[in-house]
Amino acid sequence: MLKSHSCGELNKEHVGLKVTLAGWVDRRRDHGGLIFIDLRDREGVVQVVFNPEISKQCHQIASEMRNEYVVRASGEVTLRPLGTENPRLPTGDVEVIARETEILNPSKTPPFYINEETEVEESLRLKYRYLDLRRARMKENLLLRHRVTKFIRDFLDAKGFIEVETPIMIKSTPEGARDYLVPSRLHPGKFYALPQSPQQIKQLLMVAGVEKYFQIARCFRDEDTRADRQPEFTQLDLEMSYVMEEDILNLMEELFTSMVETLKPELRVIKPFPHLSYTDAMARYGTDKPDLRFGLEIRDLSDIVAQSDFSIFHSAIAEGGRVKGICAPGCGNYTRGQLDELNKLVLGLGAGGLVTISLGTSTGSLGGLTVEMVRSVAAKFLTLDQIRQMAQRLGAKRGDLLLIIAGKSKLVDMALSELRQEMGHRLKQADPNLFAFAFIENFPLLRWDEGAGRWDSEHHPFTAPWNEDVPLLDTAPEKVRGRHYDVICNGYEIGGGSIRIHTAELQRKLFRLLGYSDEEIDIRFGHMLEAFEYGAPPHGGIALGLDRIVMLLAGEETIREVIAFPKTQAAMDLTFNAPSPVTEEQLAELHLRLREE
Ligand code: ASP
Repeated sequence: MLKSHSCGELNKEHVGLKVTLAGWVDRRRDHGGLIFIDLRDREGVVQVVFNPEISKQCHQIASEMRNEYVVRASGEVTLRPLGTENPRLPTGDVEVIARETEILNPSKTPPFYINEETEVEESLRLKYRYLDLRRARMKENLLLRHRVTKFIRDFLDAKGFIEVETPIMIKSTPEGARDYLVPSRLHPGKFYALPQSPQQIKQLLMVAGVEKYFQIARCFRDEDTRADRQPEFTQLDLEMSYVMEEDILNLMEELFTSMVETLKPELRVIKPFPHLSYTDAMARYGTDKPDLRFGLEIRDLSDIVAQSDFSIFHSAIAEGGRVKGICAPGCGNYTRGQLDELNKLVLGLGAGGLVTISLGTSTGSLGGLTVEMVRSVAAKFLTLDQIRQMAQRLGAKRGDLLLIIAGKSKLVDMALSELRQEMGHRLKQADPNLFAFAFIENFPLLRWDEGAGRWDSEHHPFTAPWNEDVPLLDTAPEKVRGRHYDVICNGYEIGGGSIRIHTAELQRKLFRLLGYSDEEIDIRFGHMLEAFEYGAPPHGGIALGLDRIVMLLAGEETIREVIAFPKTQAAMDLTFNAPSPVTEEQLAELHLRLREE
């Protein structure tokens, strides 16, 4: 190799050794006679000293070096002179006295600092991603991602799983999003689809006798750009034969617990993972992916205020809506400005508004609460007893703040769940060193799609219904529970899966219920139904969002920070400038003509 050691590995033990290093100039300092170069490679930074008295030529070359030049230097590792050690640098006790050096490749001035964690506009970072990835934080993220996938592979290998690669060009798979299509040159007018997930293929692998499959799989979904999504993302995809729900969930619990304990021992995992039913999660947190690092649970107050004189409350209930709230402990002294902010947040989410009830500024038990202490626009329409009852239900004390929203149930839940999240962060209850995993279960199998006027799968059409609910498929589909489960962590859904249907008869019944004609079923899913007729074993599985898991472990806010070359929110690749136009010839070969819009 062009180097004998890496920059970051040198320490006192190497003193006296002659080493050859190669890397980037992280910083250059010219101190009159001496030139100091902080030389950086993947492992870290070490100081190289160019002394004209030792080598005039080296000193001369060093004077031409600039940040991000790729250089090579050989010399002896020595202890730094007393008092000049740098305790912040792992190599800070030593330096290398250069006797030979060469510039391997100069560099233009980079568009942003590589050696500092400065704020840089994301589009610039993405355009020059190869420079961005040189920065310490991104390098750490790449490394962590590698460790996570390696951990997963080793863990599952030890459990008897085998990794099977599945095709990228397949047939459209219904996972609820739009497919990316690949036109076929050899078959005019026909298309492959990129997999939204390897769902059908992994099920066929169970029919094929693989029994325990996994894959670090790339998935593609052409969704409208929403929040923190990527058109291509990575799943840990997994499927097992002869399993029940708890087999998959126990495996997940062990995987996550040992992963965090091994890779991030400084983080704490709440064990055992709680199991929440979908209904329970919705009732207590207003969402099926609550952040369980803190309480601040939602309570329904409708019965308490249904008969009150406060029109916002009683009219919401009269119209079939609900009145629900949370308690913000110790926030009874919130200023008008702070309350306005919260109200704005709620309005921005589409709710009618926020009703706040301050239980005074001094703390104490509810017993001592008087009318004079209460501050609220609703105060004069509510009795002290009603306020006390609400406070009691929300677990509030004097000095707390009740945050209440009235309206349509769905909207109230959504707005309160966001508000809960906001308050959890404001009150610093969301401990960044805590990992609160949980399983959400007992989802309904189907949901009514108003727009399309038909049933749709809550998860996907391969999810099995509860055995005892199967008869309800004919009479009350809305009551059928699905054998579906989600894994959540710190307010994110990080995965989901199910026990599957494994008989052709039930699968066909389900497709029919979803509004497919028999002919459509045969064209789109005939291969699955046929496979199920050849002794398909009972099976189930799960898929986990790898990007999100690494993001959480890295303490990052978006998955783009843990993907080497991500797309922008507008699905653009700024490094390659994709998507891009193609030539007429390419289109002609694919039998395509662009439409005039
Ligand atoms: N294929 C499903 C998904 O991507 C997960 C599963 O059911 O295993 O959501």
